Amino acid sequence: MSDACALCESPDDVVAHAVPSRGDAVLLCGTCRPQVEGGELNGTHWYCLQGSAWSDVPAVQVLAWRLLDRLRGEPWAADLLDQLYLADDVLAWAREGAVDADRVVVRDGNGAELAEGDSVTLIKDLDVKGAGFTAKRGTLVKNIRLGADPTHIEGRVNKVAIYLKTEFLKKAN
Ligand SMILES: [Zn+2]
Repeated sequence: MSDACALCESPDDVVAHAVPSRGDAVLLCGTCRPQVEGGELNGTHWYCLQGSAWSDVPAVQVLAWRLLDRLRGEPWAADLLDQLYLADDVLAWAREGAVDADRVVVRDGNGAELAEGDSVTLIKDLDVKGAGFTAKRGTLVKNIRLGADPTHIEGRVNKVAIYLKTEFLKKAN
């Protein structure tokens, strides 16, 4: 296993790839490496991420997250990205390498740009599915997190982490 590709387990043309921007090395095969390094993505090849995205190795998590972020137009990739949980510092690393041209701008219901860590207020009552309460209009949600999906942010209401639709939010200052 030690000389197999960290993403798809292929043993072909495996070389060490330094993951930007921290440089931890991950072994990648001749199919994965050119795509990781910016080549066109072959969607079906990357079904392999359904296994490797759950790796315990931060550098592999970062590569998988970035690939899924690039593939998020495909429902399976968007779903997997939603399910993944990366530790805060690993997520920050993953985002450092995200290509700026692909940067997704997240906006509140009034079109104001939202950033990681911002506070927002709800502009309507929202039923929180599965949590059994209604988040009231006017509720302040601090320290929001942005995900790959620009239509939602993650925040805590009643100490429960939930996804909130950005169209029902207003940036608080
Ligand atoms: Zn591979």
